[in-house]
Amino acid sequence: MAMRIDMHVHSNVSDGTDSPTRLVFAAQEAGLDVIGLCDHDTFDGITEAREAGRRIGLQVLPGVEMSTRYKDRPVHLLGYGCDPWNRPLLAELTKLRASRVNRLQAFLDKLAELGLPLTEEDVAESRGLSPSLGRPHIADAMVAKGYVANRDEAFAKYLGDGKPGYVERYATPIEEAIRLIRGAKGLAVIAHPWGPGAKDVLTGDALAELAKAGLEGIEVDHTDHDSRSREMLTQLGARTGLIRTGSSDYHGTGKLNNPLGINVTRPTAYQEIVNRIAARGGVGPA
Ligand code: AMP
Ligand code: FE
Ligand code: FE
Ligand code: ZN
Repeated sequence: MAMRIDMHVHSNVSDGTDSPTRLVFAAQEAGLDVIGLCDHDTFDGITEAREAGRRIGLQVLPGVEMSTRYKDRPVHLLGYGCDPWNRPLLAELTKLRASRVNRLQAFLDKLAELGLPLTEEDVAESRGLSPSLGRPHIADAMVAKGYVANRDEAFAKYLGDGKPGYVERYATPIEEAIRLIRGAKGLAVIAHPWGPGAKDVLTGDALAELAKAGLEGIEVDHTDHDSRSREMLTQLGARTGLIRTGSSDYHGTGKLNNPLGINVTRPTAYQEIVNRIAARGGVGPA
């Protein structure tokens, strides 16, 4: 049987809803052999996930999904195999997480103006122990208050980019994030490039420019991309020498359209990524 590899999943260490341990068990139940744990702006779930994976024979490739910016648009960047103690990368992740917390009051002010009051305690409750506060936690607090039915409605009406409750935050310039990942012996893959946010600026020329800056892979098979986009991105990626990946971007019950394994990465692409990480002394799957 071919290996089933889901390269990009989230735990409740960021905005997923499964603990790292539960996530690993759910991945095995879904018939997966490998997951790439890519929580937003933190490595904190990796150790627990790898321990759970070791007990049941499921491999965990360490990853992170960094909040970056390209031509003033939000772009998510996956870093695989990074040394989790690399100082410059850790410093940048700390800065990103701080900006997530620093914007909370602005969110609460905007929501109060919209007649949807929330307190810091309400958000602390939905955030739990996550070091990476995200809009989904605010959405969950709104659900708990009965303001909206689910995260989707909260984003569609209030929290999504450009909506009346939206607040900006800091994001790393993408070329700098690519350098930081590579400097930590990791491998950078652009996440869902033609999802909402940056599609019109992430042209073939832009991808070629990012490949020159050290980008090595492109996430093509993702629920944000229709079949036409996947064909075009596959061609652009091949032309630029980018490794093509696929993933569910699983968030537990936080994103019901993204069940584990709905998109996967081909074993040959996975092996190439693992080989490159090993060659530069990064952290491989375990
Ligand atoms: P933030 O990290 O605070 O910028 O929030 C962005 C996160 O919200 C993304 O990583 C997604 O996981 C999540 N998200 C975006 N849109 C939706 C949606 N419609 N429903 C649920 N989660 C969403
Ligand atoms: Fe997320
Ligand atoms: Fe993302
Ligand atoms: Zn993600």
